[in-house]
Amino acid sequence: MTVERSIQSIVIAGAGLAGATAARTLRGEGFSGRITLVGSELHRPYLRPPLSKDYLLGTAGEDAVPVAPEAWYAENDVDLRLGVPVAAVDPGPHTVHLRSGDSVEYDALLLATGALPRRMQLPGSGLDGVTTFRTLDDSRRLREQISPGGKNVVMIGSGWIGMELAAAATTYGNHVTLLGLEDIPLAAAIGPELGAFFRSVHVANGVRFRLGTTASELRGDAGRVTGVVTGSGEVLPADIVVIAVGVVPDTALAEAAGLAVDNGIVADASLRTSAPDIFAAGDVANALHPFTGQQHRSEHWSNALNGGKIAAKSMLGQDAQLDTIPYFYTDQYDVSMEYSGFPMLAAGAEPVIRGSLASKEFIAFWQQEGRVVAGMNVNVPRTQKAIKALISSRATIPADRLADPAVALDQLLAED
Ligand SMILES: Cc1cc2nc3c(=O)[nH]c(=O)nc-3n(C[C@H](O)[C@H](O)[C@H](O)COP(=O)(O)OP(=O)(O)OC[C@H]3O[C@@H](n4cnc5c(N)ncnc54)[C@H](O)[C@@H]3O)c2cc1C
Repeated sequence: MTVERSIQSIVIAGAGLAGATAARTLRGEGFSGRITLVGSELHRPYLRPPLSKDYLLGTAGEDAVPVAPEAWYAENDVDLRLGVPVAAVDPGPHTVHLRSGDSVEYDALLLATGALPRRMQLPGSGLDGVTTFRTLDDSRRLREQISPGGKNVVMIGSGWIGMELAAAATTYGNHVTLLGLEDIPLAAAIGPELGAFFRSVHVANGVRFRLGTTASELRGDAGRVTGVVTGSGEVLPADIVVIAVGVVPDTALAEAAGLAVDNGIVADASLRTSAPDIFAAGDVANALHPFTGQQHRSEHWSNALNGGKIAAKSMLGQDAQLDTIPYFYTDQYDVSMEYSGFPMLAAGAEPVIRGSLASKEFIAFWQQEGRVVAGMNVNVPRTQKAIKALISSRATIPADRLADPAVALDQLLAED
């Protein structure tokens, strides 16, 4: 399918990874028209994964986070407008209105507004020392607070970000308690056995868990947080509290413009939304995935990267689809994990383990009717390509062959 208008002006709302990647791809594909990249934040587009890992730990500097070198935007004639949110989109006349009062006309528009931390209605959440965590500024602030060590830190939320922040805070020598609604952290994402693996890694590093509960109140003194009251009435001392209870897609612009929104901006596999010439990519997009035939919204780096590329190509009228196998990674202490595949297809399946959890070196596979639908390699590097190939192949693989470390992953495909 091709874009019907001749493409002279492309506006990108949201200067994160998806938005900036789209701009880079447009120029890479030879687009010579106008590109306006508009971002609410004051920072040039940056990567978020290091914010809760090496950047927070101080093992990587600010140079680890930019999506493109500072000079790239001017050199490539990208009109980068920072600290100026898009206030509204008017699909009829193809115009975006900026909070600054300016308007920009577009032939194609990409909505790449990402996600916002989910808020909790919690008494005391406005106290100093209480924060959510999403931005470079959040990471700079938290690094300053936790790097001296010796503080009582309470993480509310036992998802990936809460666990990564707990790892960083513990590594700096703070006393960390992690509250999670699930009885086993990450169980909804990767199942109880592997969730328990991550919990055990944290416990070995000194993190205390309060599970099956959450905070009911935050207490303070002179405007500063001093404690967290749990659902069971326990009061945990706290100098720093991070609320990390997930994110919600930032669909405000799309909703106000009348686009179809359902757990994100609804898009087809080419990332085209319900409105003519408007596309969506990254955390905010709920796009049809050709592999499953289902809508997917992914809150991961590779989805924003690949989505930015595909949206750019689609805006130029090329025949492109976001059909890559979803992928994400996490680093916690000495555990480096990569996950490839479809969590919704893996849900409820017993994982097949190759290697041993005790040695912290293994691959977990999830199967549906004998086909691999997801795989997670822990401290076994350079295997994600083979795992993705197994998933893409839809080959039926006996579980005992998957579990056997003597059988190379490539060989499994050849055997099908
Ligand atoms: C701390 C942290 C750690 C992470 N670690 C990992 C990891 O290890 N592995 C992994 O795979 N993924 C990780 N992720 C997820 C990954 O970073 C996200 O999936 C990715 O950043 C999404 O990119 P995006 O461009 O869609 O959205 P975002 O990065 O959220 O960027 C969207 C931008 O749009 C701006 N915006 C919103 N509304 C407007 C508006 N009206 N006008 C203008 N601009 C607007 C926002 O301010 C924001 O800057 C992590 C995320 C966080 C927060």
